[in-house]
Amino acid sequence: MLTRVLPLSVFRACVAALALAFAALAPCLRAADTNPTQDRADHFLSLVNSSYQALYYVESQAQWKAATDVTPAHDAASETAGKARAAFVGNPALIKETKQLLLLRRELTDLTIRQLERLLLIAAESPMTNPALTTARIEAETAQNSILNSHEFKLAGKVVTANDLDNLLNKSTDLAERRAVWEASKTSGPALRAGLVKLRDLRNGVAKEMGYDDYFALQVASYGVTTDEMLKLNEDFMRVLRPLYLQLHTWTKHKLAEKFKQPVPNRIPAHWINNRWAQEWDGLSAGADLTPFFKDRTAEWVVKSAESFYTGMGFAKMPASFWPKSDLYPVAPGDKRKKNTHASAWHLDLANDIRSLMSVEPNPWWFTTAHHELGHVYYFMGYTRPAVPPLLRNGANPAFHEGFGELTGLAANQVPYLKSVGVLPADFKADQTAFLLNDALSPGIPFIYWSSGVMAHWEADIYAKNLPASEWNQRWWKYVAEFQGIEPPAARGEEFCDPATKTHINDNPAFYYTYAIAQVFKHQLHDHIAKKILKQPPQACNYAGNREVGDFIRKIMEQGQTADWRKLLRDATGEDLSTRAMVEYYAPLLSWLEKENAGRPIGWQ
Ligand SMILES: [Zn+2]
Repeated sequence: MLTRVLPLSVFRACVAALALAFAALAPCLRAADTNPTQDRADHFLSLVNSSYQALYYVESQAQWKAATDVTPAHDAASETAGKARAAFVGNPALIKETKQLLLLRRELTDLTIRQLERLLLIAAESPMTNPALTTARIEAETAQNSILNSHEFKLAGKVVTANDLDNLLNKSTDLAERRAVWEASKTSGPALRAGLVKLRDLRNGVAKEMGYDDYFALQVASYGVTTDEMLKLNEDFMRVLRPLYLQLHTWTKHKLAEKFKQPVPNRIPAHWINNRWAQEWDGLSAGADLTPFFKDRTAEWVVKSAESFYTGMGFAKMPASFWPKSDLYPVAPGDKRKKNTHASAWHLDLANDIRSLMSVEPNPWWFTTAHHELGHVYYFMGYTRPAVPPLLRNGANPAFHEGFGELTGLAANQVPYLKSVGVLPADFKADQTAFLLNDALSPGIPFIYWSSGVMAHWEADIYAKNLPASEWNQRWWKYVAEFQGIEPPAARGEEFCDPATKTHINDNPAFYYTYAIAQVFKHQLHDHIAKKILKQPPQACNYAGNREVGDFIRKIMEQGQTADWRKLLRDATGEDLSTRAMVEYYAPLLSWLEKENAGRPIGWQ
């Protein structure tokens, strides 16, 4: 579910830490016509914005080609375009002027400071103050991606795809077979280990070049926080949700022990769970399976219904070019073209060339995913306006983008909405607990312990604490045991490098806490919409056709990155980032689980 990432470049968002004192000065400075520093910054930023937008478009088009028609030539063209954009944004002259202007920030408007801070964060990804280092990093990343994409999984000597492995884990009830599949899925790790060791040092080197302690510190700067603050935020999520997680863990291990006819384990063996990393626990809530209700639908209907979700709330239709330019459906049988299988939404020119890459089929997963991707699309459309300069046409922080996608997916799975669009018959009697349990298992609650726990902490260890590579796998499984309550089927030595089997560890590093924050953010918005606007229960509500909900969402989207994300969230919902809404959403499920688990030892030792 959470592989629905934006292209990397779109995600390279940032929110600068702003001194409010300077922001308060801005109005009087704006009023003064003759401010030579502001004039100098305006002139500089107008050149930078137009060049950035133009180069961004060239790179996005090359990336789009590489993603929709995978060939070595398209990959090479995409890398070249990436280098060109990097050479511009990381140019030493540009960095120098940006830094000099920021020294004079007292004389600049808030909007100007935001653009300059953002520019520095973009430059920090490819500082041409050290071209050899930057080039080495780009080349090492290309090499790592190539190993990742071309790795051949084998099962009993036969080549299988990652999808084959997933399908087997979804279906098989034979534990010996499941273990063989799970172990096969981990064979990419050793192949990726050396590259990851090298990349850790190159990425840390790049971050240091611009004055950051390490690469993790550079990534969390997008939120205007330090590494410790980011880890604390994620630990707080886990602390508050822990009673629910322990109940879910207990219920799940009993359910799986029954399914596989095994004694109830202390920690859950990793190969018992359908997901290769146990990040989501799908397929355990039979009463919420919507598959039969999509049999008379078409893939086109699925995408159109996602657009209607937004137009019904008063949003414009998507640009007409969206339909012919996007790549929305599976490659036709017999067509040799290979396309990237990850669903994504693209803002190619940071204006009206907006597209989506999907392979939509009429089923519940694609129904949710299409709504999710259009959440991104409507965010792009919202902040594409003259008041938002191209440098700030981005989510208020990276989690806001993912959060709007996830919010749309959550709203699309509410039973009253499903009835109103005709997926479910009007007289359908929903088992509310089954639906809530389904939400909680995937992505819901286990995902937090995977993203806030294992992923965030392990990556902080390797980047910020320089954990020796000889301890990487041991540390990984220590976190899996502690945070997730999961264990491997047999001991995993250092030769395996299991973290590297996760795509994001290789190609979107020190970033994964973003998905946890997006889940928390999504629930805060949903809670506000359901309770304050719709006056309906958050577990069963319907956004369809409600203009007031549309206005609420649009107001946040329109800001892009022109305002601090904390202020936007507080203005919209009246509260800071908090798991309160998530806890309340699942409160009825917690009571149900406590009854189901009565008499069982809870959690693991
Ligand atoms: Zn997304």
